[in-house]
Amino acid sequence: MASSYSNYINSPCAACKFLRRRCTSDCVFAPYFPPDEPTKFANVHRIFGASNVSKILHEVAPHQREDTVNSLAYEAEARLNDPVYGCVGAISVLQRQVLKLQRELEETNADLMRYASSLGGEMTSNYGGQRG
Ligand SMILES: [Zn+2]
Repeated sequence: MASSYSNYINSPCAACKFLRRRCTSDCVFAPYFPPDEPTKFANVHRIFGASNVSKILHEVAPHQREDTVNSLAYEAEARLNDPVYGCVGAISVLQRQVLKLQRELEETNADLMRYASSLGGEMTSNYGGQRG
């Protein structure tokens, strides 16, 4: 733990290494772009640009910065995989899946209702009768 921490402060963060600049103790990227995750910054830089990411991080409250960076990294990776739709592509695939499953569930529930009523209400009356 102690040795990894000293390694962490000795080597520049992934952003400063990528941008070939000196990583200072107040580097806004350092807490969120550790040197052992170089592609995280490379992706985010490629899609959003380092100066925009820096601006965003300064506008966001410190306790929200980690989530912000994770969100940017997710969006950047999705955009690189799908240049047209980015993460909207993944969202719409999942939305279609949800709609399909909801329709399936409705159909299955309707089948179940038809089956229960084809038993002539015996099942429902027995069900209530035995319990009570
Ligand atoms: Zn840095």
